[in-house]
Amino acid sequence: MPDMTCFFVVDDKYIPLFRVMWIAATPHFCGEEDCQREGFYEIRLEQGEVVWANQRERDGMLAALEAWSEGQPPPPEDEHWQE
Ligand SMILES: [Zn+2]
Repeated sequence: MPDMTCFFVVDDKYIPLFRVMWIAATPHFCGEEDCQREGFYEIRLEQGEVVWANQRERDGMLAALEAWSEGQPPPPEDEHWQE
């Protein structure tokens, strides 16, 4: 297991914390009938890339970013990802 203190899993992907530009404060809603992202939070990465986080992932990402910016390891990942 590599040092994962600067990554956080969102949407089954390890996202490098240093690539996160911003995180949506409110869930996505565009009104489109077939929208797959409604209720998810947009996380914008460098170079215009986007990942979509559920609320748990969004909160975890925020906590991880805060811890990372303070030079501390992030909180343990949710058990879901340790299965
Ligand atoms: Zn949408």
